[in-house]
Amino acid sequence: MTAQAAASDLYPPVQQEVARLAALPEVRSAFAWFRAHESRIAEYQMEVARIAAPPFGETARGTWLADRFRETGLSDVQMDKVGNVFGVHPGYGSRYVALSAHIDTVFPAATPLNIRQQGTRLYGPGVSDNGAGIAAMLAIASALQAARILHALPFVFIGNVGEEGEGDLRGMRHVFATPRWKNSIAYSIVVDGAGSDTVVAEALGSRRFEVIVRGPGGHSWSDFGAPNPIIVLSRAVAVLSQTPVPGSPKTTFNVGVIRGGTSVNSIPESASMRVDLRSTSAAEIERLEGALRNALERAVKSENEAAALHTTRKPQAVQSEVVEIGNRPAGELAADARVLKVIRTVDALLGNAAQVQRASTDANIPLSLGREAIAIGGGGSGGGAHTLQEWFDCNGRDLGLKRILLTMLALAGIGE
Ligand SMILES: [Zn+2]
Repeated sequence: MTAQAAASDLYPPVQQEVARLAALPEVRSAFAWFRAHESRIAEYQMEVARIAAPPFGETARGTWLADRFRETGLSDVQMDKVGNVFGVHPGYGSRYVALSAHIDTVFPAATPLNIRQQGTRLYGPGVSDNGAGIAAMLAIASALQAARILHALPFVFIGNVGEEGEGDLRGMRHVFATPRWKNSIAYSIVVDGAGSDTVVAEALGSRRFEVIVRGPGGHSWSDFGAPNPIIVLSRAVAVLSQTPVPGSPKTTFNVGVIRGGTSVNSIPESASMRVDLRSTSAAEIERLEGALRNALERAVKSENEAAALHTTRKPQAVQSEVVEIGNRPAGELAADARVLKVIRTVDALLGNAAQVQRASTDANIPLSLGREAIAIGGGGSGGGAHTLQEWFDCNGRDLGLKRILLTMLALAGIGE
């Protein structure tokens, strides 16, 4: 069954509404704006990519974005205390449709940002992830203004900090902890990277831990029998690796980094490892965390017991510590969620084939709170994300922009 057939069979009222919206003169005029202003959109994209925005260093980029929000006619433009930037396109009603794009990159502050254009291609770090998302947000805001589109629910545009790596979704987490926004955002559309061929509707959750084991250390010969942190970690890993995980909901664990010790003839004073637990189910992640903590406790206990039997001096023991270094909550859309019906119907109308996927994005936060949210691309195509060879191709960008605009308008509603 094609996506087109599915949407028209399943959601006739949504289909009629999306078709009506797409035919409105002001919406057609916004579509024409996208095509006519591609070079301006690409200019925004290159300009923003030239401003460094490492994790926890997004202020300069946020200030730039706030100025662009004002220029494009958004109202109530402001930056919150963590550096998220907001702008409102007013409507009627108190609940919002949010369009957000993360403004941080994975690149450290000193990375040379050589951003350049060759034909329809843009090159350079961050140009697609998330230059494409930020450019899409500015294109939508500009087209709304130029085509004078009136919609029922107001839109809030959000350039948020802290999506990548150690940012750990802190920007989005803060938005949904803020009284003004936490209950008023009815729908969230997250734009992350390039493309029009996916819809992320399931939030892949993850928890990451650094496990540290410390002990007295000693000489391999003269202190033999003293408790050994590397052996504790090894035992814990051996037990953890036997933990059964379900195939559905898909659940995984990984020990990705292990460190410790100083020399071949020393009993180490410390050893540590980094563990990544993932699932679309929050309960499975919790269960895995329990398994990790149990395995560790048992390993510490047996090593300490063995050392107590062995040693002739005062008893020596190892201690362990588990530090959380990442926490992205899991969640998923209800099968009958309105946002999913709308995006599928929009895709059918635009003749766009898109796959529903699960991933870890800013949408994890609203999804984990039971809100309707999806993450999609900003159109065009891209590659080499998180490398210096990153690129974005503007061809087909307007398909992605139409898709975002129609989805937002169908969610917000336009009066007859
Ligand atoms: Zn991204």
